[in-house]
Amino acid sequence: MIKIYNTLTRKKEKFKPMNENRVNLFVCGPTVYDNAHIGHARTYISFDVISRYLKYKGFSVFYLQNITDIDNKIIKRAAETGEDPIKLARKFEKKYIEDMKTLGVENVNLYARATEHLPEIISQIETLLSKGFAYETESGVYFDESQFPEFGKLSNRNIEDLNVHRVNPDSTKRNPGDFALWKKKDEKPFWESPWGTGRPGWHIEDTAITEEYFGPQYDLHGGGLDLIFPHHEAEIAQMESTSSLKPMVRYWMHTGFLNVKGEKMSKSLGNFITIRELLKNYSPEVFRFFVISTHYRSPIDFSQEILEQSHKGLKRIYKLAETVEDLLESEVPQNSAADKHQIKLLTETREKFLEAMDNDFNTPLALSSLFDFIREINRDINHSKISKYILNHIKIFLLKIGDILGVDFLTNRQHDDLTEELVDLITNIREKLRQKNEWELADDIRTKLGELNIIIEDKK
Ligand code: AMP
Repeated sequence: MIKIYNTLTRKKEKFKPMNENRVNLFVCGPTVYDNAHIGHARTYISFDVISRYLKYKGFSVFYLQNITDIDNKIIKRAAETGEDPIKLARKFEKKYIEDMKTLGVENVNLYARATEHLPEIISQIETLLSKGFAYETESGVYFDESQFPEFGKLSNRNIEDLNVHRVNPDSTKRNPGDFALWKKKDEKPFWESPWGTGRPGWHIEDTAITEEYFGPQYDLHGGGLDLIFPHHEAEIAQMESTSSLKPMVRYWMHTGFLNVKGEKMSKSLGNFITIRELLKNYSPEVFRFFVISTHYRSPIDFSQEILEQSHKGLKRIYKLAETVEDLLESEVPQNSAADKHQIKLLTETREKFLEAMDNDFNTPLALSSLFDFIREINRDINHSKISKYILNHIKIFLLKIGDILGVDFLTNRQHDDLTEELVDLITNIREKLRQKNEWELADDIRTKLGELNIIIEDKK
């Protein structure tokens, strides 16, 4: 039985989907105005592992993500670059999806663009207006926070306490915390609505999209910690105020931040590394392994040193996979006297791995059981106390957990070896070019390899 920490109840709860083994999962997608950074990747890799594990446990998961393709940040960036905002959004959406694919984040069933759900957004606003939860002013349509006393329940805040510190810069709003459902605008991009031309508020796109695909109640909603307030509170208010099916989301899940020197990595702080930049120096598997080495709810302090450390851990698993494959090709006995003990060890490791994953997807604990196993089995391998029977079982185990974690332990080491062999091949060709005085081409190869961080120094 899987247990999930629910931000709403602040407890770990047994996971029971609404419809037998079907799971509806929604994770807030990115605002596409720039390349995604590794903080974003942390959140999306975490939910990728979560959806992989749910599938491993036999659930049929429908994973939905929205794409925020209308936003002031997009419009501002487009004005700076002279591009059309929608074209700019499409460009960065494409890059985001490419980055996710490179990182092995491949379980999203549907990316839903806000701009393609305007009718659903408008219809939800109309319902809120007709039931008295929203009001129209000259600047837009707003949700009336005072009509939803539960506002603040996800972040455990009280509206009155909040309002003491809030100012109301927009005098047309009834309460300082009222948020825009529709912003009246006559400059492009805008969309038609019953309240004139304008753009939807940020919060309404998510509930309009989830209601369209999942209905007013669904199983899992995820995102980074920063979204709890006000974004997810606003989502709850928009949906639960008018729905009889509560709570809107049965399990709210939030990832911890990827920080740099204690501060959240973010575009606005300028302390970010894009996924593309990082992947110039590290393989996607190394970064994935780095992310899953920490529990999804805990913060990660990003540094090259910690990344290197987790790379070392990953290499230990690759090494075991390599040894297993090599031994399977060699003259190892089919069975040995140690089989019984080793099967017990493997069974216990598998149980501990799954127990840790069942316990709110505790990937670091799951990995520690794997490392304990590697230490023990290596001892037997070094003393030639291993049979083909056990090696095959280890191979299957590594394949299965690799599938859950999204890291291919068995084939990646071949990539590592292949890279080395290819670099040797290229440098040998370059050496021959130098001997033939083909300096220009030889220099070109050195520069291009340098761009890939493979540095060649020609010494006497
Ligand atoms: P945004 O495009 O800023 O709305 O972010 C998209 C998703 O990435 C949200 O779920 C954010 O919470 C998450 N996110 C952004 N920055 C970080 C970070 N430094 N660490 C973890 N998650 C992040």
